[in-house]
Amino acid sequence: MSSSIARALRPALKRGQQAVSASGLSAVSRTCRPARTASRLQCSARALSTTPARRSDFVPTPLSHLSETEAAMKEAVGKFANDVILPKTRDMDEAEAMDPAVVEQLFEQGLMGIEIPEEFGGAGMNFTSAIIGIEELARIDPSVSVMVDVHNTLVNTAVLKYGSEALKKKWLPRLATDTVGSFCLSEPVSGSDAFAMATKATETEGGFKLNGGKMWITNSMEANFFIVFANLDPSKGYKGITAFVVEKGTKGFEIAKKEKKLGIRASSTCVITFDDVEIPKENLLGERGQGYKYAISLLNEGRIGIAAQMTGLALGAWENAVKYCWNDRKQFGQYIGEFQGMQHQIAQSYVEIEAARALVFNAARKKEAGEDFVRDAAMAKLYASQVAGRVSGLAVEWMGGMGFVREGLAEKFFRDSKIGAIYEGTSNIQLNTIAKSLQKDYTS
Ligand SMILES: Cc1cc2nc3c(=O)[nH]c(=O)nc-3n(C[C@H](O)[C@H](O)[C@H](O)COP(=O)(O)OP(=O)(O)OC[C@H]3O[C@@H](n4cnc5c(N)ncnc54)[C@H](O)[C@@H]3O)c2cc1C
Repeated sequence: MSSSIARALRPALKRGQQAVSASGLSAVSRTCRPARTASRLQCSARALSTTPARRSDFVPTPLSHLSETEAAMKEAVGKFANDVILPKTRDMDEAEAMDPAVVEQLFEQGLMGIEIPEEFGGAGMNFTSAIIGIEELARIDPSVSVMVDVHNTLVNTAVLKYGSEALKKKWLPRLATDTVGSFCLSEPVSGSDAFAMATKATETEGGFKLNGGKMWITNSMEANFFIVFANLDPSKGYKGITAFVVEKGTKGFEIAKKEKKLGIRASSTCVITFDDVEIPKENLLGERGQGYKYAISLLNEGRIGIAAQMTGLALGAWENAVKYCWNDRKQFGQYIGEFQGMQHQIAQSYVEIEAARALVFNAARKKEAGEDFVRDAAMAKLYASQVAGRVSGLAVEWMGGMGFVREGLAEKFFRDSKIGAIYEGTSNIQLNTIAKSLQKDYTS
């Protein structure tokens, strides 16, 4: 564990905490103005203060400003992705499978328990650090990035927010160190209309019994821990939806099919069936009938993660192509990246990537500040996935024939980008959310 990113970052995190306790609010503003890593409570109290006198001395900082911990996270994950994941990326895509050694290293590096408190074996970092890690991984491999994203922003968060003390004690240390998690909401009959699900739960003497099936479940080949949404009381409609924890290997639980996909092919996506799956009562996650609320809240946060994945993907595609255009390929006696027609596209694309990241960071910072971030998360996901599609498509063109062949990564980034407009709410669903929230603001 000495090489662990989490361990390497701990001194930075500690320095931030000391600065807060030693110097009070003036030091807090310096330490956590950009990131609020040190003390979310103190920082958010500051940011949310309604006292005019206090707000007047609040100095806003650039959105892109990172705390010491966040900057260290960015550098460490970037290096890890380059050194360890990049050499395997093409092979994993061709094999349509995640190398188990990569999964092991993600745990070793502390990247599977970013926000899990240290008392449970996690890295104890903030949400923005997780977002930064997801972006850095996607810059190299969007499949690895989504594994980390789903595990951290959906699964770990679900246990942290809604799990009983017993569930937390049992599972958080494992989720931080050796157990991959999956989030099972979608079904053949319910995608965008997620709460029209058909999977049912019935109460038994010892706990619950699940029957039904889920579709398109990320991480299911690697996972041992599944958060499953099922309707415990269909007479109440979506208000019967309840969340459960199911372990792989439970009788009646089956991975029925592994999908073959257009992109993020190293990430497993499977159909799961439940045939009289019996689970103990302690595997109830949170309260009966609250599952739809949990799913909405988790996906609101998760969307910031997907937006970060798409921003990282766009940057990775852009970097891969501009290196070629400015260093390798000459036509008409000059580097192809020196033609003005190319330079304008390259510059325009970079601006869009930066704009996407600004939306991502704003949504993440607002979440950490305890503000309403639902519209911001939807805007970030919508825009970042559009940018990822546009930039990775152009990057293929900038590289000409070399962009189209499967030797490099240009075509892979392009294929991988499409998923951004589909999972965790399609682009139309994000637009619905944005429009609904705007209409609320502009309706008297
Ligand atoms: C690779 C991959 C990984 C996934 N991972 C997971 C996972 O881990 N867990 C999980 O639970 N799910 C997962 N999903 C499922 C994903 O969240 C759904 O595919 C997504 O929500 C869309 O649902 P759908 O595919 O049924 O499309 P549909 O809902 O059938 O939508 C099809 C089209 O209709 C449009 N549409 C639907 N409703 C409306 C509306 N009200 N207004 C306007 N347009 C509308 C959509 O925008 C879309 O363009 C994954 C999917 C994929 C492909």
